[in-house]
Amino acid sequence: SQRFGGLVPIRGRNPAKISVLNSMSESRESRIRQMLDKVAENSGADPKVANLARMAQSELDALAKERVQEQATLAEFAEAYEKLTAPANRIAVFLALEENGQALVAMGDTEYRVLLDPKQDFDQELLVPGARVLLNEAYAIVGVMPTHSGGVIAKIGDVLEDGRLRMGAGHEGEPVRILERSAQLAETAIRAGDEVRVEPSGRFAVEHFGAKETRDYFIEEIPEVPWTEVGGQADAIKLIRDTIEKPLLHPEIYAKFDKKPVKGILLYGPPGCGKTLIGKATAYNLAKEVSERTGKEVKECFLNISGPKILNMWLGETERMVREIFQVARTKAKEGNLVVIFVDEAESVLRTRSAGRFLNISNTVVPQFCAEMDGVLGLENVVVILTSNRPDYIDPAVLRPERIDRKVKVKRPDRAAAQQILWIYVHDRLPVSQTLLDEFNGEEECARQALVEGAVAHLWRESRETEFLRLHLKNGQTETLYFRDLVSGALLKSVVDRAKEHAIERAIASGDPGEGLTREDLAEAIDAEFRENEIFPKSDVMDDWLKLLDVEPERVAAVKPIGDSERGPMGKSTVI
Ligand code: ATP
Repeated sequence: SQRFGGLVPIRGRNPAKISVLNSMSESRESRIRQMLDKVAENSGADPKVANLARMAQSELDALAKERVQEQATLAEFAEAYEKLTAPANRIAVFLALEENGQALVAMGDTEYRVLLDPKQDFDQELLVPGARVLLNEAYAIVGVMPTHSGGVIAKIGDVLEDGRLRMGAGHEGEPVRILERSAQLAETAIRAGDEVRVEPSGRFAVEHFGAKETRDYFIEEIPEVPWTEVGGQADAIKLIRDTIEKPLLHPEIYAKFDKKPVKGILLYGPPGCGKTLIGKATAYNLAKEVSERTGKEVKECFLNISGPKILNMWLGETERMVREIFQVARTKAKEGNLVVIFVDEAESVLRTRSAGRFLNISNTVVPQFCAEMDGVLGLENVVVILTSNRPDYIDPAVLRPERIDRKVKVKRPDRAAAQQILWIYVHDRLPVSQTLLDEFNGEEECARQALVEGAVAHLWRESRETEFLRLHLKNGQTETLYFRDLVSGALLKSVVDRAKEHAIERAIASGDPGEGLTREDLAEAIDAEFRENEIFPKSDVMDDWLKLLDVEPERVAAVKPIGDSERGPMGKSTVI
């Protein structure tokens, strides 16, 4: 049987036809032998005849031997023939063994109660739920097949308490099924968001793939960002704490007043003023506050999504990413993390449906994003933060109550805010120049104050060299903008970094331990920042300028950059 196939058990070695033929030739042979005996008896004394009869006998013996061999070969062929012409075996999925020794199997959606071939000794370790079995014409199990290596991959949406797996929501219209674990996955740790291979009947998960590594690429480790690291944004911070932090810290009071917590906020305002910083600070501080309040450690999980990056030209790909982001968020939230979904430059993906880049393609990202947001409404530890410097481009459906229902303006710093931000970066661990310290009788705090105020005064000066743009307003007025109107947290940080470089160079050159920051270091750094750092848009395209400025777009009729040959050509914005 090995030679002809393996799994099908042997069926009758001597088919009836062969045995009839055999018995016919056997009786003919014995008749010939009798006749030869008679010839030998009647040969008289003629030795020649007797000898001939003996020779004929031994020829007959040889013939009989050959016949036995031929019979064996014929039997083998007969068996092979029978196998090749037998009907095909059905393959089913083994479900369970019943108490009466019968088995439950399934083919597609249909189940059968079947017998096990009594001639076989089935290995109970192979005959397990999810195994593939061979059925004969009578549907009896006659063999166990090796596992199949292909099949459909399903994403797990939820793991039920009894271990069964709920498939994640597929594309619209696709059924969502409950999967059983096959024997090989009985003990496997499977999490929502993981992938499994499903055998062809669609009932059992038979192989576990875990979460695809790439799925976590949105997750960003964030540094410790206490609120004190964010300068000059008191209003924005207060609004965030009031709307997001309070419901998380006092859920019972909110429940008592039947007040639903805010799920999402939009941070809008010009670039570099701390939107991302505030997003990270929100995640960090929320997790910390909740940990303190509940007494068990809650870790923040910051999903940093760049709007333009997930805006993919491939139809449906952006939608897939959105689905995946919320899937990761739900999984992480269920594991007890505090999840912040942070979408930077949200106007790119969530653009109003009438004004998108893909005018001719119906935008399905917005409705999908809204549906996903509605889906996390019930999860109290998921917060969505969008940022934009053109909030007027974001689809109003996204900004509806219960979705993103708070808009928080992150303004460019005014003079006082700029001071606060500089205090963060000109911190008390930085060396201040001895000369400056001497000026203030060694009072370090006063010397640093002088540095900060000097830098702000330099930034806020109004002169020919600091004017850069004329705004023509719709009401007929014109406004001149100065460098101070482009000050941002990012710029202030960069100025301090540059000033440090000057001081470091001096310290290396002179070897003087009294070297430290001076007012001039900061002033020079400010000039260099505006001169070299290509702050201004290249063109006079109004949109580019409006993104940068902290003015209401509706108020502006036209912009006119003030070209100043001393200042050099206008460049592209990098640090603002
Ligand atoms: P964009 O719109 O370009 O994404 P953004 O508003 O998100 O800009 P951030 O990325 O938060 O700006 O700011 C860049 C860096 O500038 C921050 O990492 C931080 O170092 C510094 N910065 C910006 N604003 C502040 C602030 N208010 N206080 C302290 N540092 C700030």
